[in-house]
Amino acid sequence: MKVVEIRTTRGLAKSGLPEYDYALNPYLGCLHGCRYCYARDFTRGEPGDAWGEVVYVKVNLPEVLAREVKALKPGVVGVSTITDPYQPVEAKYRLTRRALEILLASGFKASIQTKSTYVLKDVDLLFVHKDKVDVGLTITTFKAETAKLLEPNAPPPRARAYALLALSELGVKTWVFLGPIIRGVNDGVEDYAPILEIARRTKSEVIVDRYRHRPGADSMLLAAGIKPRYDASWWRSKAAEIKAKCAELGVACRTAEEEWREARRSRDLRDFL
Ligand code: SF4
Repeated sequence: MKVVEIRTTRGLAKSGLPEYDYALNPYLGCLHGCRYCYARDFTRGEPGDAWGEVVYVKVNLPEVLAREVKALKPGVVGVSTITDPYQPVEAKYRLTRRALEILLASGFKASIQTKSTYVLKDVDLLFVHKDKVDVGLTITTFKAETAKLLEPNAPPPRARAYALLALSELGVKTWVFLGPIIRGVNDGVEDYAPILEIARRTKSEVIVDRYRHRPGADSMLLAAGIKPRYDASWWRSKAAEIKAKCAELGVACRTAEEEWREARRSRDLRDFL
C-alpha cells in the first residue's frame, strides 16, 4: 500500500451523474480495491494503474473547498464518485469529515456512498445535518467468500449492514446500492434477498444495478478468475425478479437506469424553473 500526499487546485467538480450537481473526491484511487470497480477506468496515472495499492491524498482540499463554496451555487454533492470517501486513509487525514463540515455549513447537501463502517465516525455531524445528507451503503452479497473475492479490502458486508442500522436508527436517510450484479457470481436469490431484508429494516431505498463492462474492471475480474457475462434478457428478468421481491417486502426499489432518468427529469425541471 502506497500513500502519496498531493496538492489540488480544485475541490468540487461538476458532476457527470444526473443525481448530483457536484462531485467531491478527497482521494485518488481506493484501497478497497474492488475487482469490479469502474472508478479505475476514470482515474489517470499511478492510482489507476495500480488500483487498490496506491492512493493519492489531496491534503489541501479543505482550504481549496472553503474558498470555492463562497463562489458556487449550493447544490447536491456526490461524496464520492470515483473513490470511497471512508477508505482506510480517512482515519488519518479526515478529509471527508472536514469537507462535509465546510459543505454542510455552507448550504450544500451531501449524498454519501461508501462500503465502510468508518462513516459512523461522523455520525454526530450527519445527525445534526440529517435534513441535508443521505448515506448509501453498497452491498453486493452477504456470502463472505464471494464478497472477499469481489471486494478484497472492503469491510465485510455484515459490518456495512450494521452501519445502515445505526444510521437509520438515528433518523439519517439511508439507501442501499445493490450492485454491480454479475451474472453467475452474485445474482442468486440467496445473494440479494438478505440485502433487501436489511433495506426493509432500515427503510432504505434500493438502487439495483448490473455490472457494466469497462476495460480496467474487466481485467481485474479476469485476473480473479471471473469472466463477466451480460445479456439484456438476463438482466430484464433478474431486475424484474429483484423488484418483485422488493414489492413483497414493501421496499422501494429502482434500477440505476430508472434512477438516472428520474434524476435527469428533476434536474431539467429545476433548470427550467
Ligand atoms: S469502494 Fe468503490 S471506489 Fe473503492 S474500489 Fe470499491 S467500488 Fe471502487
